Amino acid sequence: MTQMSPISRATIFKKLSVSSLARPAHGATPLHRHSDLLPIVLAPAAGESGVGFLLRVASTNGISVHKLRQLAGMTEAETFTAKHEDRLLALVGLAGSWPSRLLPQRISGGGVTCYGHRFRVRTMLRFRRPQFCPTCIRETQVCAAHWDLSLSVACLHHGCFLQDLCPSCRTQIRWNRPSVEWGHCKHILGGAAVSEDISQDLRAVQKITEDLLNHQAPDFSPVGLSCPGLSLDAWCSFLWALGLIETPDSPPRRTVITRAPSSLNARTVVVRSITRLRASVESGRGLSDLAHVVAEAPLAGTILDPANECDRAICLNWYESIFGERQAASLVRRHRALSQMSLF
Ligand SMILES: [Zn+2]
Ligand SMILES: [Zn+2]
Repeated sequence: MTQMSPISRATIFKKLSVSSLARPAHGATPLHRHSDLLPIVLAPAAGESGVGFLLRVASTNGISVHKLRQLAGMTEAETFTAKHEDRLLALVGLAGSWPSRLLPQRISGGGVTCYGHRFRVRTMLRFRRPQFCPTCIRETQVCAAHWDLSLSVACLHHGCFLQDLCPSCRTQIRWNRPSVEWGHCKHILGGAAVSEDISQDLRAVQKITEDLLNHQAPDFSPVGLSCPGLSLDAWCSFLWALGLIETPDSPPRRTVITRAPSSLNARTVVVRSITRLRASVESGRGLSDLAHVVAEAPLAGTILDPANECDRAICLNWYESIFGERQAASLVRRHRALSQMSLF
């Protein structure tokens, strides 16, 4: 270790104060008490990514993300999670004064909570696979919280898709980088706005995702749905279910669900789900046409382990519309907890 950690410095001071320095009066603050505060103190911006904020804290203070981890008593291999949040926020004087939900917290059963939402499947968040909007980065030097969602695919401000590759050398960007604007590959990530072909439907879907993340009631009507009270987790599960399968009746490759998707794969999933949703609205037959292209698992998973009771009722309704009454009844029969509830 090249530099002393705050703990070792504090320990040394304690030894000195006991052995050779005058002991301060009871209750008085020692004159040279070590401060945990970093020189430049800053607070998260509205809608800022938790890990993005930590990257900003590190770079503003001229230290690496690795050094920030060290100061918070974390090992090099550890990712930023809620259990480190207090110690990290203490470095900028915010411990205990900030709603503690900027970093992911694992929960029993394999899920995770973050930003005040519960996600049944960890891969709904892309904490190991950051993405960005080059123009937002250039203009604000802040990473948005919605970029951390696996199925957030566009920047509505700049009308472009989000990306996870360095614009210069096309390597996958990392959180361990010099700053929000600079990649670990030593290339600048910010860039001019490039207007891309973002359809009205995609805008509507992205808006729903962001509204749900921000705890605002979204308008589902532009995509032909009515599902008040649906959680962000169930919404993302619905998009996964509709967009995962590439060709009819072929189950998705396992890697697709066990890892957070690349920005490009996420875009493909969302665009595919929108196309299918639009086709079902225009055919007038609703979701029933989609049985051969919908992945059952994300819907069934939400029904069995919903974030709230609206999720369960809405997803069971969708499940029944897509796979038919018989299959829905069979799902209910197989799971006793479901059959004891009046859901229809
Ligand atoms: Zn942007
Ligand atoms: Zn690069």
